[in-house]
Amino acid sequence: MRPRLRKEFVSPMVMPCPLRVRLEISVPSHADWMLAPFRGDSVTLSLRGATVCPSDFDSLLTDSAVVAVSARQEPGRAVLAGHRRRPDMQARCTSSGALLSLVFDRFPPPVIPLRPVLRIMLDAGHGGVDAGARSADGTAEKDITLSAARMVATRLNERHRDIEVLLTRETDILLPSTLRVEQANSRAADAFISLHCNWSFDKSLRGLRAGFSSPGSSGRSSGVVAGDGVVWPDDSGSRASGGPAGGIARWDNAHDSWIPLSQSLAGSVSDAAQGRGIPTRQPLQAPLAILEGLSMPGIMIELGYLSNPVEARDLVTLDYLEGLADAVVEGISRFVASSRQPEGQQ
Ligand SMILES: [Zn+2]
Repeated sequence: MRPRLRKEFVSPMVMPCPLRVRLEISVPSHADWMLAPFRGDSVTLSLRGATVCPSDFDSLLTDSAVVAVSARQEPGRAVLAGHRRRPDMQARCTSSGALLSLVFDRFPPPVIPLRPVLRIMLDAGHGGVDAGARSADGTAEKDITLSAARMVATRLNERHRDIEVLLTRETDILLPSTLRVEQANSRAADAFISLHCNWSFDKSLRGLRAGFSSPGSSGRSSGVVAGDGVVWPDDSGSRASGGPAGGIARWDNAHDSWIPLSQSLAGSVSDAAQGRGIPTRQPLQAPLAILEGLSMPGIMIELGYLSNPVEARDLVTLDYLEGLADAVVEGISRFVASSRQPEGQQ
């Protein structure tokens, strides 16, 4: 494989400087590598037992406004040299099988200011053969999330005629999380809300919970991939199956800059639910694969626990589900209102 240079942006429109530049090269599996720390603005990656063709790197030399890379062959080893053009770029190396990545990250990631919310992407979790969690009597999470998403969409449309409300799915179809995120990114949504139901071996747990991402986290890289791709820190064991997916996490830090706004959105929904007397657990920050790569504030809302007998019954009751939808809409509306206040009053 020829070396490839990939740039990852929060959004080229908002933030023209990439958050991350990743140089990918294939190396023999026996090659040992060592990344020396920066000397000035240059960093060196030695690959013992590997060969490179320096001209393959020619096109990469001036590819980026933030880093340049070049390669040379020395006896017994290949040497890659990276040069940063911004002092806030850090370098690290990751490997997966025969693929080696020299990664330049901007640190700390820039924080993005809140923009007026004009478009909202609602995501009904799971679908198709992915039923999600199930209650004891067989109710599937995918059906509850779709009903709830439709209710929330209807209410948002009634309440905010100037906001476009989009749904990642409107029928019972299988949709990988990457396609949900890509839809939201490509439609330039201003907020992303993914609806789910929780499940735990502890059947006493109940309540709505809003979650937002941890910095640099992704379900894949943390090795937790089962269910919604999340193990909440305070009820570990609830989803603890599945193993490390391996490979290189994609996009993994691209969402980091939106975390403060995501936290505020999670807080708004949580407060609104609590204010309406809905059992509500504290918003929680966790590795959430389903929010990975989002270029906007995004949260996951676990509407309740399908493992709790009382809540499982409530979640299929129209009145209760409508109450949940009202609370979610009120929370979103508070966030929308804060996004439209003149600067300095947020
Ligand atoms: Zn789910």
